[in-house]
Amino acid sequence: MFNFVIASSNAHKAEELNKIASSISGCNLAFSSAAEKIEVEENGSTYFQNAYLKANAYFLKFKSPVVADDSGLEIEELPGELGVQTAYFGGDIPQRERNALVIEKLKLASNRQAAFKCVLCFILSSDEVFYFEGQLKGEIAGIQLGDGGFGYDPIFCPEGQQGATLAALGDWKDNNSHRARALQAALTFFKNYKVA
Ligand code: IMP
Repeated sequence: MFNFVIASSNAHKAEELNKIASSISGCNLAFSSAAEKIEVEENGSTYFQNAYLKANAYFLKFKSPVVADDSGLEIEELPGELGVQTAYFGGDIPQRERNALVIEKLKLASNRQAAFKCVLCFILSSDEVFYFEGQLKGEIAGIQLGDGGFGYDPIFCPEGQQGATLAALGDWKDNNSHRARALQAALTFFKNYKVA
């Protein structure tokens, strides 16, 4: 069994990773929250760089295997506005207002295509750094719907889910999110991994 400290101050992400891992039979990865949160400046220009910055900061502090997630929402009609910078979209405003701002910006748009992206960075030792990617395609809704999840979930309708938002899809999100897909790729890898 591999145990990883989750390098994140976002409790939702830690909760999601644990839920996903525990729902997979034979999963040989276990996650625990960090005893202490570390402020990490996410100044990379890619999800890979930011995931590494977070993972490495926790690895240096705790000297034990860590995993960090970096994720974002990409909206075709708003190139460069979210993506790696998703957490800062709209400035220092509540998430509900960020969601409303996205809806407002797409008011006249005919293209509502979007995708959530996630990169997980696992560090077992300084010579063992591994990345896994996941994405979830969908469309931006016209109004905010649903009480579950977090962040942009109330305005994101995944492909093939009849217009329901992630915030209304509960268990479906746990198994199909960008984070779940990246984690599934990691599980496949670690099943056969022998520690260096
Ligand atoms: P970071 O990965 O902590 O830098 O921030 C990612 C940003 O994307 C935050 O603003 C989150 O709210 C948003 N985000 C990431 N994953 C999800 C998700 O599963 N649902 C909704 N929003 C998400």
